Amino acid sequence: MKSLTILGSTGSIGTSTLALVDACPDAFDVKVLVAGSNTALLAEQALKYRPDIVGLASTADAAALREALAGSGIEVAEGEDACTELARRPVDVVIAGIVGLAGLPGVLAALACGQTVALANKESLVSAGALAMATARRHGARLLPVDSEHSAIFQCWLGWSGHQKDVTAPSANGSVDRICLTASGGPFRMRDLDSFSMITPEEAVKHPNWSMGQKISVDSATMMNKGLEVIEAAWLFDLSPQSIEVLIHPQVAIHGLVYFHDGSVIGQLGTADMKTPISYALAWPDRLDWCPEPLDLLSMGRLEFMPVDPDRYPCFSLARQALAEGGVMPAVLNAANEVAVAAFLARQIGFTDIAAVVGHCLDHVPEGDVDSLEAVIAVDGRARDLAKTRCGAISQAASTKPLSPAGGV
Ligand code: NDP
Repeated sequence: MKSLTILGSTGSIGTSTLALVDACPDAFDVKVLVAGSNTALLAEQALKYRPDIVGLASTADAAALREALAGSGIEVAEGEDACTELARRPVDVVIAGIVGLAGLPGVLAALACGQTVALANKESLVSAGALAMATARRHGARLLPVDSEHSAIFQCWLGWSGHQKDVTAPSANGSVDRICLTASGGPFRMRDLDSFSMITPEEAVKHPNWSMGQKISVDSATMMNKGLEVIEAAWLFDLSPQSIEVLIHPQVAIHGLVYFHDGSVIGQLGTADMKTPISYALAWPDRLDWCPEPLDLLSMGRLEFMPVDPDRYPCFSLARQALAEGGVMPAVLNAANEVAVAAFLARQIGFTDIAAVVGHCLDHVPEGDVDSLEAVIAVDGRARDLAKTRCGAISQAASTKPLSPAGGV
């Protein structure tokens, strides 16, 4: 039985992880659950899975949680710092499923204690990749990918090098020519480019293949998500930007491919269900039989591949640019994107403004460094201020114009 801490238990990754616990109750023991502010769901999960302790980042909602858990014997920790501390409790696997940079302190805390971290929170590696990898190496911690594409690469690579490979050390990548991450292309792959400024939040969060949280759904629509994944892959697998290729593959049957120097290409296939890559990270180096829907290639008929169109997906190019320039750029990219996506979801800016805001922040990069948690948070804060000012200006300019029929600006 493996003991688990689930950071972000009330989200899409968290609930998928708990669905695997339901499917294999003898395989896992849930010790710690952490959420942001969804008191009702966290209390429900706590009473069902009986962890030792639950953490709620929002102090405003903690009293209600304590009341709901009164008499259960389950401890309650409240506030961001207390939630970060919970990541230090020794368990077999810490699932990092908090969204955004808010997940970074917990990831670093778990790595600093030598824990095995199943990483969904890609923003941590984007903003603080060098720091996270160095922390993992220094403390003998292990980072196992949860993102489906990175899980695919990990599985293909392991197939080649066996279980001996230390996944937190620089990869023995001498035999690897390059990797390929696939992308669905999101909901607007075929949409008329002229209508992109009319895209509404409701349309953007409706992903054709995956069921995910709101932020990553918008990131998938802009393809910033794939850009963040390229940066994540560069850190996880110690690869140069040039050796990470991306292809649009609308059927999302193949999640990732590794091209070896001898001409062999190994790919990983599966249905579009996050429970598969999560189950691999939970069970690694074994595999979990959780009765997934089988992949039905016959009904797919054909598999298609196409390049990424930079006019349709400018956010993807911005992420590539940030990775190539390095330093604070990826942290600025991530912060600006988080602010812009939140502003878009709040209908303060339009869909095409997301790339404009991120591009503006990359052109006006604030001073700073990314060599400690404090430094990353400081750069992140400055980039957020810059992005908020830009969103405010866009919103104000738009308010002087009539709203589009779809409510976009
Ligand atoms: P969701 O929005 O569905 O869930 C986010 C989770 O984070 C919730 O449990 C939320 O709690 C919690 N949370 C938010 N802020 C805080 C905070 N300050 N402290 C503690 N907990 C917090 O996101 P997803 O599950 O979709 O995504 C999570 C991460 O996984 C992201 O980094 C995403 O990129 C990555 N990922 C997601 C995939 C997916 O299929 N969903 C696929 C691959 C990667 P509450 O509900 O209480 O607000």
